[in-house]
Amino acid sequence: MQQLPPFIQKHEGDLWLTENERENLKLSYRVKEIVVSAQSPYQHVMILDSYDFGRMLVLDGVVQTTSLDGFIYNEMISHVPLTMHPHPQTVLIIGGGDCGAAREAAKYESVQQIDMVEIDEMVVKACKEHLQDVSGNLSDPRVRFLYQDGVEFVKGAEEVYDVIIVDSSDPIGPAKQLFELDFYRNLYKALKQDGLMVCQSQSPIFHFDVLEQTYRRIDSLFPVTRMYTAIVPTYPGGLWSFTLGSKRELPQPDDVRFDKETQYINEDILKRCFQLPQFMKTKLSL
Ligand code: SAM
Repeated sequence: MQQLPPFIQKHEGDLWLTENERENLKLSYRVKEIVVSAQSPYQHVMILDSYDFGRMLVLDGVVQTTSLDGFIYNEMISHVPLTMHPHPQTVLIIGGGDCGAAREAAKYESVQQIDMVEIDEMVVKACKEHLQDVSGNLSDPRVRFLYQDGVEFVKGAEEVYDVIIVDSSDPIGPAKQLFELDFYRNLYKALKQDGLMVCQSQSPIFHFDVLEQTYRRIDSLFPVTRMYTAIVPTYPGGLWSFTLGSKRELPQPDDVRFDKETQYINEDILKRCFQLPQFMKTKLSL
């Protein structure tokens, strides 16, 4: 009998992926086909074709992005910072191996260079080949793929970037340091004088400790810190948070304009995405 990849079980003839992220809650996805399953030097990488979410990228058994809703997360993590900057030219993406954030950043004519620093080349290759609903098979010449640890990369960068997008996996394994104060300090240094950064800061429902720590750390370094949210069905709890740190004031909602072709974000969402639910405001004392 053929051995199943890790994290995949067979039940009554069907294949299932069961995420084991939480002790008391398990999410299972019925799988049509295992498209890619391989161990990289950093993590176990799978592309699965699932019944309800279509193709999905799964790292160490945790779903990262899917054909069904990957656009929501990728548009929110890219267009919010790129719209808040008056004239973004140089962009750094850390992580983001599914290429969805780079694909969105490439929609800006002003952008001349997109450095994508992803630790795991296998993730990029798998997504470009087998997850084109998310990656768009990105081949824009402005995108420079650098297969390195983002933590080390930013140590050597000074006033280079207008916008930095930290599109990391959860704070475990190689992504753990992407949530540390020293890393944010280096991001501050890597940004130009009017630059801004954004990172995903986990679930307000299930990971408020990580969210609060991220907010406080960024707020201790940047003169302007804002949190925003979006609903991403794939992620635990649905509601997801992003934290933005800026060296200069952000535009007022009435001044925000948006004309890119997208599926989720639009001018209305950009104007109101910084409005937070009351429990978040209370807990963060905002
Ligand atoms: N959108 C997804 C989410 O929030 O779950 C995650 C996007 S992406 C797939 C995350 C990427 O970060 C992975 O491909 C992983 O290899 C990469 N990564 C993790 N640690 C990293 C590091 N230290 N430097 C660069 N990339 C890293």
